Amino acid sequence: MTRHGGGRGWNSKMIGAALGVTLLATGASVWTAQAGATNGSTPKATAPASDVKAVAVTIAHASDQGERGINITIDDGPDPVWTPQVLDVLRKYGVKATFCMVGTQAQAHPDLVRKVVAAGHRLCDHTVAHNTAMDKESQTYQSRQILDAERMITKASGGVRPMYYRAPGGAFTPYSRKLAASRGMRPLGWNVDTKDFERPGTDTIVATVRRELPNGPTLLFHDAGGERTQTVEALNQLLPQLKEEGYSFGFPVR
Ligand SMILES: [Zn+2]
Repeated sequence: MTRHGGGRGWNSKMIGAALGVTLLATGASVWTAQAGATNGSTPKATAPASDVKAVAVTIAHASDQGERGINITIDDGPDPVWTPQVLDVLRKYGVKATFCMVGTQAQAHPDLVRKVVAAGHRLCDHTVAHNTAMDKESQTYQSRQILDAERMITKASGGVRPMYYRAPGGAFTPYSRKLAASRGMRPLGWNVDTKDFERPGTDTIVATVRRELPNGPTLLFHDAGGERTQTVEALNQLLPQLKEEGYSFGFPVR
């Protein structure tokens, strides 16, 4: 979500849960077994540095599908009620999306993280506490937020790493961008903020996309942090319309 009040209620829970992250990461026997099976190397709690290829530090907006490409990005989940509904709509129209997950949400719902990956979508690190003022915090804090969420998401997915990093509310710093990029996570921005978290009505969400699409290809939606019927319905209307108009759906460039 962007810099708004919705979702503050769960930030305190997230911070509490984050305290247990390090312990969990070191005891990840299930994850390490699967990570080893996936990449064929010796299982380790953290991917060896050689397995992580650094990416560009600049904030990505473009689509790998080129000029008529659109990137659907879905933030703040996974959520047991809304993520499955979003996945259903994406599957219905054969659209791949990028899911920017909050570490504690991924940790609480590993089944959903695996469903997202199995459906061919990509993962994005959206920190642990979703602090939209994290750009004012110390580098130690920023590092923990990014790396703990990276571990939580990778563990939940069974070894599939997030490919992007999106700062909550866009609160990037040069330091956080560089750190994420060094871990193979391209900083990810957006061009169209649908403001679906404000629940302005499905028609308004659709109209916002139509009006602001000239801004660029990366669209921001949310599958958690509140009731998301309007988001699901807006996607249900927009995806077939945009396909009909010759757009193709892809991933942000890395
Ligand atoms: Zn967010």
